[in-house]
Amino acid sequence: MKTHVKALVVGGGAVGTSIAYHLARAGWDTMLLERDELTSGSTWHAAGLLPYFNMSYATTHIHDYSIKFYKGLEAETGLNAGFYVVGNLRMAQTDARMDEYMLYASTAETCGVPYEWLSPAQIKDRYPLVRTEDLKGAIYHPTDGYINPADVTMAMAKGARQHGAVIERKWQVDGYDWTGSEWRVTVTKMVEKGGNLVPSDEQTVITAEHVVTATGNHAQRTAQLLGLKIPAIPVEHQYIVTEPDPALVEWRKSNPEHPVLRDADAKWYVREERGGWILGPYERNAPARFEYAVPDSFRADLFPLDLERIEEEYMSMIHRIPSSETVGLKDDYNGPICYTPDGNPLLGPAPGLQNMWLAEGFSFGITAAGGAGHYLAQLMVEGEAEIDMASLDPKRYGPWMTTEYAARKNEEAYEHVYILHHPDEERPACRPLRTSPAYDRQKAAGAQFGQVNGWERPNYYAPDGFNDHDSRSFRRGGWWQYAVDEAKAIRSGVGLIDATAFAKHRISGPGATAFLDWFTCNRLPKVGRINLTYVLTSHGTTRTEYTIVRVAEDDYYLISAGAWHAYDQDYLYNAIMDKEPEFGRINEQDVTTQWGVFAIAGPKSRDVLQSLVRDADPETVLSNKRFPWLSMRNIELGMCPVRAVRVAYTGELGWELHHPIEMQNYLWDQLMVAGEPHGLRLVGARAQNWLRQEKSYRAFGTELGRDATPLEAGLDRFVDLEKDYHGKQAMLDTGVRFKCATFLIDGPSDADPWGREALYHGDTRVGRLTSGGYSVHFGKSIGMGYVTPDLAAPGTQLKVKMFDQLWDAEVAEDSPYDPKNATIRADIT
Ligand SMILES: Cc1cc2nc3c(=O)[nH]c(=O)nc-3n(C[C@H](O)[C@H](O)[C@H](O)COP(=O)(O)OP(=O)(O)OC[C@H]3O[C@@H](n4cnc5c(N)ncnc54)[C@H](O)[C@@H]3O)c2cc1C
Repeated sequence: MKTHVKALVVGGGAVGTSIAYHLARAGWDTMLLERDELTSGSTWHAAGLLPYFNMSYATTHIHDYSIKFYKGLEAETGLNAGFYVVGNLRMAQTDARMDEYMLYASTAETCGVPYEWLSPAQIKDRYPLVRTEDLKGAIYHPTDGYINPADVTMAMAKGARQHGAVIERKWQVDGYDWTGSEWRVTVTKMVEKGGNLVPSDEQTVITAEHVVTATGNHAQRTAQLLGLKIPAIPVEHQYIVTEPDPALVEWRKSNPEHPVLRDADAKWYVREERGGWILGPYERNAPARFEYAVPDSFRADLFPLDLERIEEEYMSMIHRIPSSETVGLKDDYNGPICYTPDGNPLLGPAPGLQNMWLAEGFSFGITAAGGAGHYLAQLMVEGEAEIDMASLDPKRYGPWMTTEYAARKNEEAYEHVYILHHPDEERPACRPLRTSPAYDRQKAAGAQFGQVNGWERPNYYAPDGFNDHDSRSFRRGGWWQYAVDEAKAIRSGVGLIDATAFAKHRISGPGATAFLDWFTCNRLPKVGRINLTYVLTSHGTTRTEYTIVRVAEDDYYLISAGAWHAYDQDYLYNAIMDKEPEFGRINEQDVTTQWGVFAIAGPKSRDVLQSLVRDADPETVLSNKRFPWLSMRNIELGMCPVRAVRVAYTGELGWELHHPIEMQNYLWDQLMVAGEPHGLRLVGARAQNWLRQEKSYRAFGTELGRDATPLEAGLDRFVDLEKDYHGKQAMLDTGVRFKCATFLIDGPSDADPWGREALYHGDTRVGRLTSGGYSVHFGKSIGMGYVTPDLAAPGTQLKVKMFDQLWDAEVAEDSPYDPKNATIRADIT
């Protein structure tokens, strides 16, 4: 056996095999190790469906690549991958479901995925066995279908070998050691014993520059070997196969196969199988399994069928396809299907480890394998992928994540596969978990919380008895008016937002200044001042956004998005580790949970603070002279020491009040009392998100990410072209392929865009929205997004597709509200 390779892939399911294929195709010397046989994990019992449908831009790209790649495999390898392009018919029982499909169709369009709409009559006409009188319609994907999971894996394995990869079966990875330049991987020969697969005495060590783990249901063992927490835990998933249905057999004599049928409101998919039907439900109460490890006795095994659990879905299949009522069951499968808390796989660099890559937690692994292999190989070989992989990055869960959290959230993610994916959805499991001290006060004031990286954060405030769940919609939800009132309060009065979830780091020491100067693309601020700045990837695109506060000459306070805490921190700490020998000692300290943050904003915000601030000269302490815009001062509000930062993400006069977390309730109470005479209003994240779009403030994860440079994002004023920094040349070499712009939209009277919609110039698709919402200042919908540079000039007339119609969208000047920042800079009166 080879004992040194460039890349070692662990796990021979669909995902690992695809990764080995793509790495080998890219020219890397690659070996794949499988402890048993290829496909012996979840891959062997998958139903093989390849659903395009996904509300995420990155995942839709991944699925799209897979489908196209699988189609070409036979020509390349001579092996039939068993791909049946039968189409996919996703039916809707309600108007809300049709709205969901229309929003999804926008995402599909931005990725170039074809679809058609079918009315109930058209469905009946094409597929008479399907009951349609209670349907509203359906979306149909002609290019989608199903595949034989074992065949496609074998075809990828053959392709991998053709490109030079070595595949070794019956070798289990039992240990990983990083030598400083490569991984020493201890592997054990597995042998059969009494039907079990057990380790033999034969062990060897393989050295590899890079390791990818794609260990499916064994992710928890992988996590233990690597000393990581990996929230990939399987859940039971079953499907049943019926005997042949005589009505179907008869119909098929003169008709092609049915598309894969999905009755999302009934939570199932159905497809044909040898004259009968396969029913795959996503039922309630499917339990998580193997929370700590897969027992040795579990190989290519299944759990017993739990028919009672899927009775409701079974009955609804009979309702939808009445001829299926009389046919018996022929076969059943109940296997482990790996999940993660948000349902997305964990694909990318492992937290805190060098050259270690995770490809774990795949719940639609047959659909995703092709694209996952392609984009991960790009990331490994070229340093970046064409698409922003952040939403799949293994570091999106921080160290607060536990086994219990992952197991319960994964059960929820499974159960939610077919629920209505409202963009304003908030899922209930494992909450509240991470709360700031003021949580109870906020709750008592009517806060309707969302969860960000485990933190509870008010989305908006509503009166007693309001039900957030029932208020959700693809249009303007029942909460919309509250968010409007909150946004107006900030524009005309004063509002208070809890921003405690922000990630906060202190970077100090003799090497800190030189390091941050190299790490970030904007000039570093002077002492007492702040700057908005960006960290670039090696390809010159945006990796992180920081507000940097310079506290002292070599002492900096970095504020970044709470949702991306671990993801950003990993990049920061790795860079510090690399650069410390060059720049000198750099201390890093994560102070996220030590500091609470309230953002107070609005023309009356100074008046509120004025009555609380203690100072020798309280009249002037908040004046422009003593406390200019974009500066930081340590002030005292009553008895609370506050690091006040004069910025406001809403684009109004305002301050972020960073305070010791243990004094949060004291400060809250003080602000409530001081705010009362000024009509201070509690404001949530939804209003804030709308307000920042009126100012064209880009948000990380929407406008900002690894698929665009800061120059493409239109952030030229924060990019210093005079100094040298990480990623600068790559950014310049990339040029401006597309440009971020703000749009004022004359949309439907009852809906705003969500930031996933396609943009058109005439009949041509020219870009997509990345954010959307309502502008209280302009009284119409607003959005931000990317278009080709020639169409980004203010005044350009474009269209945005919402609810299957095109609506006027005009490119606005940057910061359409208060472009001169007059209100933010307002001085004491
Ligand atoms: C009933 C059911 C139906 C499904 N239907 C579909 C479907 O229609 N469409 C779809 O897209 N997905 C479906 N899935 C999900 C799909 O099966 C998985 O997402 C997919 O198989 C995951 O592939 P994988 O390569 O990540 O994991 P696996 O196939 O589980 O492969 C992991 C491999 O790693 C090996 N391994 C683990 N640890 C080690 C080690 N230490 N050393 C060496 N080797 C190791 C294991 O032996 C295993 O072979 C279904 C799942 C179930 C349970």
